[in-house]
Amino acid sequence: MESFLSQRAQSIKPSITLTISAKAKAMRTAGIDVLNFSAGEPDFDTPDAIKQAAIESIQAGFTKYTPAGGIPELKAAIIAKYRAEQNLDYTPSQVIVSNGGKHALHTVLQALIDPGDEVLIPSPYWLSYPDMVKLSGGVPVFLKTHMADSFKISMESLSAAITPRTKLLILNSPSNPTGAVYSAPELSALAKVVDATGIMVVSDDVYEKFVFDGGTFVNLLGVAPHLSDKIIVINSASKTYSMPGWRIGFAIGPEKVIAAATKIQGQATSCAGAISQKALAFALGNADHDIERFRRSFEMRRDLMFTGLTQITGFKPFKPAGAFYLFVDVSHFFKRFDGVTDSVSFCDYLLENQRIACIPGQAFGENNSIRFSFVADEATIVEGLSRLSRLS
Ligand code: PMP
Repeated sequence: MESFLSQRAQSIKPSITLTISAKAKAMRTAGIDVLNFSAGEPDFDTPDAIKQAAIESIQAGFTKYTPAGGIPELKAAIIAKYRAEQNLDYTPSQVIVSNGGKHALHTVLQALIDPGDEVLIPSPYWLSYPDMVKLSGGVPVFLKTHMADSFKISMESLSAAITPRTKLLILNSPSNPTGAVYSAPELSALAKVVDATGIMVVSDDVYEKFVFDGGTFVNLLGVAPHLSDKIIVINSASKTYSMPGWRIGFAIGPEKVIAAATKIQGQATSCAGAISQKALAFALGNADHDIERFRRSFEMRRDLMFTGLTQITGFKPFKPAGAFYLFVDVSHFFKRFDGVTDSVSFCDYLLENQRIACIPGQAFGENNSIRFSFVADEATIVEGLSRLSRLS
């Protein structure tokens, strides 16, 4: 039967995070006391004022197709955000609104990548990047990073990976799964390579609002605005406003790229949901207080879980400077328990024996580590640490 399926469909894997989250939810529904550290979404409800804006738009009859690239009101709010936060001037033809950041990224890749084009992906990586690149016919090329270099690529490692086939680099800061955050000087060094080689960059900024320890978010555009014709920024309401189910995100970038992406989107989905567009138009600039409430809460939970893990022998966590994940080297435990030899068997062991759900690093290209998401409530984190301490 498989032969009926396209090469494209057969070349990609299902998302492991969605599979494990579903397994953990099913165990819970069956009455099993599973602690879920696998979630990739905030645990807050969408703020009431944003919901209200959506309800009003439904009641006002705003329920039809919109222009393919997004409603003018939302594009204007996105442009205002970049003017206020980064002093950048974009026009509506440089903005596309999509059904989530993932969809915006997929559409941009479809617009940019030809078969055989190489796309550089720092590793560990968000697990969808390689498969999305393959869906566009491109070839993912991984730039390995390590805990010792804070899971960041350097000017040297970037230069060394570039070939005549390199089209694009995907940068994600704060990072899923490591929580690494690039500083302005680090980005400036990378910008020099981008400038010298002419490659394009996708800057996946979906975790931009969740930076800890008083740090500030900066992206490649912030340090190198002169490269704006090379950089496409991906962003989303999912994490920032706790709106993952609303499926709304966007991309900004060079007019030609956005025009091509808009053409593709117009044929693929027509447009993003009208109601979600209205909700995001309201959220931008009207929910800063909520964002800060989320950020503080994540930082508090990061501290609790990071400190706890450092006190348990065998766990080697990387301290995340942003996002809401902890990437932890657990290779100490391999071969200590029956059948535990890598991140996948370790996660299975945790689920079966300690009723803890988390994601194996293999999904992110790093098989010695696992990813805990710390969007769990405090009591769950405390109980989780207590169960994990039984391992050492
Ligand atoms: N980029 C990264 C790094 C992510 O972790 C996610 C969500 N897991 C996304 C993009 C896409 O999110 P959404 O499609 O919900 O906007």
